[in-house]
Amino acid sequence: MSLQAVRNVVLLFSNPSWTDGHSVPSTILRNITALSSQIAYSEDLLGNITTLSTTSVTTSNGVVQGLLYVPDLGVNDSCQALAEPYIPQNVTRQVNLPTTSYNLIALAPWINADCTQSFLASARLDPIRGMLVYLPDNSTSQPPAVDDQAWDLGDGGAWRTTNRYPIYAIPGASGAEMMRQLSLYSGDLSQVPFSNQIMSIYSPNPADYVRVWTELTVATVSTTLPLWAFILIIFGVIVIVIGTTSMLMHLVQSRRRASLRRRVTRGEVNLEALGIKRLPVPRDHIETFPLFTYNYDPPLPSSPTSTNVLPKKGRALSDASQGPSSPRNDARNETNETAINYQPTCIICLEDFESRKTIIRELPCGHIYHPECIDEFLSQLSSLCPSCKSSMLPAGYCPKITNSMVRREFGTRRLRSSGTIIHVDVEGGRRRLSSWSSSVKKHIFPVSSPKPEEAVDLEEQPRGDRLSPVETTRDRMQDLVVPVDETNSDDGRPQWKRAALKVFPGFR
Ligand SMILES: [Zn+2]
Ligand SMILES: [Zn+2]
Repeated sequence: MSLQAVRNVVLLFSNPSWTDGHSVPSTILRNITALSSQIAYSEDLLGNITTLSTTSVTTSNGVVQGLLYVPDLGVNDSCQALAEPYIPQNVTRQVNLPTTSYNLIALAPWINADCTQSFLASARLDPIRGMLVYLPDNSTSQPPAVDDQAWDLGDGGAWRTTNRYPIYAIPGASGAEMMRQLSLYSGDLSQVPFSNQIMSIYSPNPADYVRVWTELTVATVSTTLPLWAFILIIFGVIVIVIGTTSMLMHLVQSRRRASLRRRVTRGEVNLEALGIKRLPVPRDHIETFPLFTYNYDPPLPSSPTSTNVLPKKGRALSDASQGPSSPRNDARNETNETAINYQPTCIICLEDFESRKTIIRELPCGHIYHPECIDEFLSQLSSLCPSCKSSMLPAGYCPKITNSMVRREFGTRRLRSSGTIIHVDVEGGRRRLSSWSSSVKKHIFPVSSPKPEEAVDLEEQPRGDRLSPVETTRDRMQDLVVPVDETNSDDGRPQWKRAALKVFPGFR
């Protein structure tokens, strides 16, 4: 709120104590300068002003205004004599102003620290709105800067705040001229300059006043905010809003990714069974699944004590479950068991196993396949057992979870909860087969050392033509994989949508 301009004008207004005759109505001030500039003093001081204090600036439309006067000093004040050369005898003092509380602007020379303190203290007692000071150096240039030694009153700058009005320094020459004008406009109407013209034009009562009125235009930063700053602020707000939203979304997404990762690691979610992501099994992990020589003895129909009764080629499935209950079936009491136990065929290539000849690989779920069939299937196509869709991934394995996976898993879960799709019952299959797995080993003799190289050797002897699956087997593999619709992921989205998703990954 620094001072930009000082404007002095001459006002004609009534003596409030005058109640008779044709005085200027007390509520009306006449700005003689504005009405007829030829017969009144006016002064405009633009620039060259130093703002010394902005304490308690009271403006009306950015203007501090009041009647200009010189504060009185005490009769015993030593400054009386010091100030005498700079302050004419008949200068406007408070006694020359109307008795009502008009706003006042003080004018005082800055002679020395003591005198300035005296003027400031005197002005504090008046209804003052601001103070103009000037160094009595008759200079026309800008007074020293606000932090200059010239303005040191020996109180560490406390004067700037203890005086509850703004204080501005004007050039010495301007101050002296204002002081001179103040001496001209302190008496009654007959004594002011151009009194005859004022009398004839306005025919005021002789008791009316003509005094100097000062308007101080102060710069208000808040109302003059430049457009670029306004745009910058709006831009900043937008950036903050976008940034905060994006950060929040990323935070939410990262929590959801962590949650999905936990559930995948714990085996609660099977990304491939949900059709979200194809997950091949690492070769070295596949090779930890044991190799066996397939061994199957046809059941002896007449032997009621056989615990190894298994129907042949599935045709006798119903017989086995309905027939004379074998001790083992009673003990386990699982009707599905025999059906799963009996695996005469590799369901990938649809070729039958040959007892005591074919090398088979048994998956943790208990399902058995030709190693060359299942190894290629697991390592290249899918992590799910072709029969029961159990995951063959290492325990605790989790691929890199992306936001797209989170979104699709969420969508699948929502669809499932609304009953729209039916999900493969991976958990049920795993439970059932693990119990089966423990019993089947009675029928399948492990290869003495289930290393892959030996397994190949063993299978080459009886089935030299089975080095790699043929094309029809590969087609069948494709039929056995759970369809994974990866076109629906982020890759399928338009460029702009992918960019937007990077910034706003979405809350759901
Ligand atoms: Zn096979
Ligand atoms: Zn299985």
